[in-house]
Amino acid sequence: MAKHAIGSPLAVDLISPEDAAKAIDNHFKHNQLLEWTQSKYHANFRHISPVNLTPLYLKRSQEVLLLRLASRSLPTKAQLFKCGLDDSPLCASCNTNETCDHFLLTCAQFEAQREILRNKVGPTPLSFGWLCYYKDLNSKKIKALVEFLVSSHRF
Ligand SMILES: [Zn+2]
Repeated sequence: MAKHAIGSPLAVDLISPEDAAKAIDNHFKHNQLLEWTQSKYHANFRHISPVNLTPLYLKRSQEVLLLRLASRSLPTKAQLFKCGLDDSPLCASCNTNETCDHFLLTCAQFEAQREILRNKVGPTPLSFGWLCYYKDLNSKKIKALVEFLVSSHRF
């Protein structure tokens, strides 16, 4: 037995460094996904993919806007009020809580920009989850969303 072990190839000789690196990467991605899906935040942020590292090829400021929108952390009045940085959580135009959902989907102040967004993404009913689901990297949707965010001049 010991004589056979000395003559047999080492396991590291049988696995290429590329295959070993890929296996380690897959292991970490699997564990990240498992941790994410079991976290208390997953239910509210199902549209966010923790393992998609594909670059969007946007300006850094546009990427930040998209990711802050998806994580519902844009500095809306509701968010600022929650942090004690604004006197009121209410939208100046609608007098309802100015949340990311309100800004993106219902605020009358941005209806013209929203109509352009609708025309660019097609006849799909707008929903926060669908608009902020970037995993499919639908470039038409992402560019239209960036245009909406930028043209609103809100952030
Ligand atoms: Zn509003």
